[in-house]
Amino acid sequence: MVQWQVMSRCLVTADLHSNARAFEAVLADAARGKGFDELWVLGDIVGYGPHPEECIRLVRDYPHACVGGNHDLGVLGRIDLERFNSDAALACLWTRGRLSTEAEAFLGALTLRLERAPFLLVHGSPRDPVWEYVLSERVARDMPPYCEADHCLVGHTHRAAVYRMGGCPRGSMGAVLNGTVLEFGAEHLIINPGAVGQPRDGDPRAAYAILDREEGTIVFHRVAYDVEGTAEAMLRGGLPECLATRLHLGL
Ligand code: ZN
Repeated sequence: MVQWQVMSRCLVTADLHSNARAFEAVLADAARGKGFDELWVLGDIVGYGPHPEECIRLVRDYPHACVGGNHDLGVLGRIDLERFNSDAALACLWTRGRLSTEAEAFLGALTLRLERAPFLLVHGSPRDPVWEYVLSERVARDMPPYCEADHCLVGHTHRAAVYRMGGCPRGSMGAVLNGTVLEFGAEHLIINPGAVGQPRDGDPRAAYAILDREEGTIVFHRVAYDVEGTAEAMLRGGLPECLATRLHLGL
């Protein structure tokens, strides 16, 4: 039985990837209407984009619950950069030299799993929070032994999606679109809000979700931001050109 806590509305984000203009657009969009009480970040605050320090500062401006992702660990030197593709590794090295001591300490203190009942927050998957991608119902089906919470919130794939943990009696759920409202019921779900800073589902707009714990719903959103300015900042900063190009495509 789901126990919804009183503190109600959470802004759920993942994969900010040092894209401060996208993150600001999300924060402003989410503040409209009923707003939000707490910011949840499902890893990869940094890597790829031009504004690592700014993104960490923005997270710290809000009451937050935040887990680390593979890029956060890569930037800190806690995982071997050979496990990344060459552009991602270059971006990790680029970021490493640009963080303040405070920002580095913030990333260094992040845990990989965080419980906010009835949710587990991780970057990749409950089985492997750092590297595993949940991109199908088949993978989601294997997760119950690794997740004691009713539902799991993940990032890492950069695609907004919902999957059922432990089987799928009525067909796949998969990708979700802007404006989708999901009501929590008896089924245990794995939910990905999509990426703020580098969407990969063909829609370049920043993705996020609003979880209303009182109503028992999660609503998926997309918001436009200054892609052009961000891509230019990446090129000016000397980040790989293809990382800037892919922002325009949302791929
Ligand atoms: Zn990522």
